[in-house]
Amino acid sequence: SVLADQIAAGEVVERPASVVKELVENAIDAHSTQIDIVVEESGLKRITVVDDGDGIADEDTEMAFKRHATSKITDRRDLFKVKSLGFRGEALPSIASVADVTLTTSTGGVGTLIHNVGGQIVEHAPAAARKGTEITVTDLFGNVPARLKYLKSPTTELAKITDIVNRIALSYPQIAFSLVHNGRELTRTSGRGDLQQVIAGIYGVQSARKMVAINGENPDFKVTGYVSLPELTRASRQYISLLLNGRYIHNFHLSKALIAGYGSKLMVGRYPIAVLAITMDPLLVDVNVHPTKQEVRISQEPELTKLIETTVYQRLSQENL
Ligand code: ADP
Ligand code: MG
Repeated sequence: SVLADQIAAGEVVERPASVVKELVENAIDAHSTQIDIVVEESGLKRITVVDDGDGIADEDTEMAFKRHATSKITDRRDLFKVKSLGFRGEALPSIASVADVTLTTSTGGVGTLIHNVGGQIVEHAPAAARKGTEITVTDLFGNVPARLKYLKSPTTELAKITDIVNRIALSYPQIAFSLVHNGRELTRTSGRGDLQQVIAGIYGVQSARKMVAINGENPDFKVTGYVSLPELTRASRQYISLLLNGRYIHNFHLSKALIAGYGSKLMVGRYPIAVLAITMDPLLVDVNVHPTKQEVRISQEPELTKLIETTVYQRLSQENL
């Protein structure tokens, strides 16, 4: 029901940045190689995400807006080895229940247009479309005034959108991303697969030059990525991006381990810029902790923190600091 969708929306769709995140993750799951995001008025006027992925077959389009309709998990056991970013089948119905959503999609042939207003499909028609999917969200939270009031300033909401897009771009160097806000381009990556190039695009070429590659592994975990040298620090931890099996995560202990790897080489209250990709058996991680999937439970976490700390420490020891 629309009411159940709106309740779920409270968890999944907190703010414009959550909409961007869910739509972009769907585009990634659909094997897109290029994802373009266009936002107006910090997402409150409009959010459009265009991808060149698989598209949705006409007969599946209405289903995509139904709660717990996911094409990504067919077996309960799949829950334990989730590879796709989405699997709960909650995002589209949740977004649609609190906004006006237009979807145009094609799997290659004649496409489909679906117009959904406040959770109700008001139009389903054939449409000319190239392969891929385009979703436009307008009037976000128009029917949930309380939610609108809870939002921060337009500048803060835009910063959250930029932040999430940048972290996703860092997670997928092989996908070309662009983010345009009110006609101004904020992020563009080439999709050529080079993480250092993505870092340069986001944090600047000068910063990227002051970062070094790290590599470490043990039988259970592999960590790779880039960390800044101690000369390049920031006053906040938010320049540390942790990716677990391609998924951007929040984890205080892992960030702390990374910082600990600097030993005393960072001043108090200063943090590195870092992008750390962790690869591990999906069976050893539980991503189904929270609807946004940014919090995860990792078995053998102490072993992983040790690996991160020593890998960073040993790499920095090779530099003449
Ligand atoms: P989930 O991602 O958890 O499966 P969503 O509500 O986000 O659930 O999406 C519902 C379904 O709609 C997906 O399982 C997928 O089949 C389809 N879908 C959504 N966005 C796209 C897209 N950009 N390209 C292809 N299919 C999509
Ligand atoms: Mg999804």
